[in-house]
Amino acid sequence: MRIVFLGAPGSGKGTQAQRLMLEYGFPQVSTGDLLRTLRKADTPLGRKVKTAMDAGALVSDDIVLEVLRDRLAQPDAQRGFILDGFPRNVAQARALDELLAELKVPVDRVILFDVPNDELVRRISGRRTCRKCNKVFNVFSSPAAAGESCPRGGEHDLEQRPDDTEETVVKRLKVYDEQTRPLVSFYGKRGLLRRIDATGDLDAVTTRLREALARQS
Ligand code: AMP
Repeated sequence: MRIVFLGAPGSGKGTQAQRLMLEYGFPQVSTGDLLRTLRKADTPLGRKVKTAMDAGALVSDDIVLEVLRDRLAQPDAQRGFILDGFPRNVAQARALDELLAELKVPVDRVILFDVPNDELVRRISGRRTCRKCNKVFNVFSSPAAAGESCPRGGEHDLEQRPDDTEETVVKRLKVYDEQTRPLVSFYGKRGLLRRIDATGDLDAVTTRLREALARQS
C-alpha cells in the first residue's frame, strides 16, 4: 500500500507514520528527515538545503525528488510506504505520479490531517526529536522520553529542530497554505483523499487513521 500523509507542520504526520509503520511493516518516508541528513553535510548541496530549511521555505523540487527517488528504490520500500511531507506542491504531486507510473504502482490513499492553526503552533513549539532514532516527542502531550530507551542504544537524545522557532513556524504555515493546500483538491478530485480530525489523544487519532485507510470512499 502506498499512502500519502498530507497536513500542515505539526499536524502529527510523523508521529502517526511512526506508529503505523510498525503495524503495517512498511517504512515512513519523510522527505524532511532525508533533507535533515543532507543538511548536515558541509557541501554546496548541504548548504543549499540548510538555507531553505532554516528560512522555513521549501527545498527545490529537483533536490527533493532526487532523494525521494533514491529512497523509494530501497528494498524496504518495495511492498509499500507512507510518504510523510511529500508532495508539498502540485509540481511534486505530478512528479510523484510520473515516478510511480515508472514503478507501475499507484497512490492508494491520501490522508489529510486536520488541526487548527493555534494548536499547530503550540505543538511545534513543544516538539522534540531524538537525534539518534528520529522518534518525535512533545513536552506538553508526550513527555515520555525520560527513561525510555532508544532503539539505537542508551536513552533518547532529544533536540528541538532549528526550524521549529516561532518565526519560522509562521513562515512554514504560510508556505503550507499557499503551496501545499491546493493538493487537497488535487487528490480530492481523484477520490483518494480521506480527511481525519487529528486533534486530541494520540491513540484516538491512530484509530481514526486506521478507519480512514480502510474506508473505500
Ligand atoms: P518537515 O520535517 O516535513 O516539517 O520538513 C522540514 C523542512 O524540510 C520543510 O520546512 C522544508 O524546508 C523541507 N522539506 C521537507 N519536505 C519537503 C518537500 N517535499 N519539498 C520541499 N521541501 C521540503
